[in-house]
Amino acid sequence: MSDCLFCNIAAGDIPAEKLYEDDELVAFWDIAPQAPKHFLVVPKKHITGPAAVAEEDERLLGKIMRVGARLAAENGIGDNFRVVFNNGPIAGQTVFHIHMHILGGRPMTWPPG
Ligand code: AMP
Ligand code: ZN
Repeated sequence: MSDCLFCNIAAGDIPAEKLYEDDELVAFWDIAPQAPKHFLVVPKKHITGPAAVAEEDERLLGKIMRVGARLAAENGIGDNFRVVFNNGPIAGQTVFHIHMHILGGRPMTWPPG
């Protein structure tokens, strides 16, 4: 989708500070980090959000989790991190192309805001 920010980042048309890329996924540091380490793992396929994940996407979403955990370990976050998917504007979603936040490098509290 030409007007989608994360489709454009995935295609390399808008720059981002990428940590990882393959044929299906891209991961990049969040431009407005909410923790000392905060990155996003994004499928290249345009899916608007968690509620739009189809059965055919189940393997891809599992890969997002697996790659995200590996990148956390490789980037100094270790195995203490927060995973967030926002769905819908009231829940805080601002980019309507599914993305997994990984936040780490500080203690996390619950409930989230
Ligand atoms: P959400 O609010 O869950 O939709 O998350 C969108 C995230 O994308 C926010 O944490 C933003 O800071 C981040 N973001 C927006 N634009 C960019 C960009 N150009 N590069 C990296 N991260 C971005
Ligand atoms: Zn998109």
